[in-house]
Amino acid sequence: MPVVAIVGRPNVGKSTLFNALTRTRDALVADTPGVTRDRIYGRAELDGRTVILVDTGGLDEAGGEVELGAQAQTRLAIDEADLVLFLTDARAGVVPVEHEIASDLRNRGKAVIQVVNKTDGLDPDMALAEAAELGLGDIFPIAASHRRGLEQLGHAVVERL
Ligand code: GDP
Ligand code: MG
Repeated sequence: MPVVAIVGRPNVGKSTLFNALTRTRDALVADTPGVTRDRIYGRAELDGRTVILVDTGGLDEAGGEVELGAQAQTRLAIDEADLVLFLTDARAGVVPVEHEIASDLRNRGKAVIQVVNKTDGLDPDMALAEAAELGLGDIFPIAASHRRGLEQLGHAVVERL
């Protein structure tokens, strides 16, 4: 089964997206960044295809031991993934470390789909324009906690596998 990893900074909504797509509450969603440390695996039906979804702790500026552990886990998740969903937060905007993550993914030649979360209540054009700076190709706007944009995203994932 294809493996799809959800990657991005802490707090952008990776676990919320994981739960929405797997229709579980297996991933802990929290306002505090850094709650997910290990990789969490789940099964998702996307556009009629079953994939293994992986939730990760998130990549960020180098921090303490916990953050480094989470980042190592995230790198392993990227390595084993057939496709990476790179998630950013429309409210927080694009930050420098996300440029680093994007170029790292490009250098590794990974198949990536860029996803902008938390677009609820925002001007979608504004959200997309800023995210486009990362230069990873097509961008999918979603609001994971409102289940918005998930069908289009599922369709795009299956097309890329
Ligand atoms: P993670 O650290 O990337 O796994 O992020 P979480 O899934 O734990 O979510 C972090 C915070 O963002 C939580 O308070 C979520 O409820 C919130 N959140 C997630 N998705 C959305 C969304 O689509 N819109 C809004 N407004 N908040 C969201
Ligand atoms: Mg999480």
